[in-house]
Amino acid sequence: MKVYFDNAATTKLREEVIEVMMEAMNSSYGNPSSSHSFGRTSRALIESSRKEIAKHLNVNPQEIVFTSCGTESNNSILRSAIDFLDVKTIITSKIEHYAILNVVDFLKTKKIRVEYVNIDDDGNIDLEHLRSLAKIDDSKKIVSLMYVNNEIGNILDLAEVSQICQENSVLFHTDAVQAIGHFKIDLKQIKIDFLSASAHKFHGPKGVGFSYIRKNVLSEAFILGGQQERGLRAGTEAVHNIVGMSKALSISYNNLEKEFIHIKELKSYFVSKLKRIFPNTFFNGNSDNSIKNSYLIINVALPISSSKIDLLNFQLDLKGIACSKGSACQSGAALGSHVIKNIESKSNWPSLRFSFSSYNTFKEIDYLMETLRSFEKI
Ligand code: PLP
Repeated sequence: MKVYFDNAATTKLREEVIEVMMEAMNSSYGNPSSSHSFGRTSRALIESSRKEIAKHLNVNPQEIVFTSCGTESNNSILRSAIDFLDVKTIITSKIEHYAILNVVDFLKTKKIRVEYVNIDDDGNIDLEHLRSLAKIDDSKKIVSLMYVNNEIGNILDLAEVSQICQENSVLFHTDAVQAIGHFKIDLKQIKIDFLSASAHKFHGPKGVGFSYIRKNVLSEAFILGGQQERGLRAGTEAVHNIVGMSKALSISYNNLEKEFIHIKELKSYFVSKLKRIFPNTFFNGNSDNSIKNSYLIINVALPISSSKIDLLNFQLDLKGIACSKGSACQSGAALGSHVIKNIESKSNWPSLRFSFSSYNTFKEIDYLMETLRSFEKI
């Protein structure tokens, strides 16, 4: 049996997505920048995909810029804020994805001030601290905080952060890679300047993502070359990927209610079964809080010795079960998860992240639990 519980790492492509991508590859190979009919066909596909994506976020299609992935979106947004918008201070947290943390570390070497907002023991952003950081001096600032944490699934209060940023004339970027396609977001209701998204996290293809860039916020190119993407990001567009991303997003949002209920039930089933096997299981972050946590992610510290975690991972893999380590300490050797290290955790206990999708079943959870139960007896 093969069981995939690593959907925060990447997701399976939906059949319908593969179909539209195949169709685009077979019949729309013209360069979208060419003025002949082949080019115009490709251009039309790109623009209808942009419209479709914009509709789901309630934004203007011109505010969607296609990129190659979430990492590119994060890099280009932060670097553009420094290069073109005169930003001198970045406010972020220590539990962001490395696609933010490493960019921020690099920008520190360029004399950019970086402030890390405090987080509580469960990994929640201290909004009062954020408010004080937003006023720390007169420099131009950007706040970059992720919407849903990829390791512990904590959800940011986007509306409140947006409010704090507006009150203090601070730009706001959110890395929404783990949220887009899984949570409804209306950018007319919540003012955000920049947002990053990635197709492979919502059953779309790898190698494509998008940035939402609020109208009139940025007009300089972050990749130089041709005039693609309104001159902001040069390079011939990956038509098939863009079409696949738009299809994947539409299916995700059209099925959201139904899939949400199924996955939420799977997660509660997982929690109750796991508690029976390991009654002392510690849930990292807000993992077992159904309101403050993503329904897709659960991060558990298991009451077993660190020396046994490699054996457990080996056992899970042997049984065809995929999850993610996300451990604070892997056999005392590897660096482990920076997120777990920055929050309260049973630090000697190894942590595992399980992340679900609508393709998962209750039977798969039973199978996982049987594997864990037999392991517990070793
Ligand atoms: N940001 C978050 C929160 C992520 O989870 C990921 C991927 O794991 C990324 C950024 C990077 O996205 P991509 O794989 O599309 O570069």
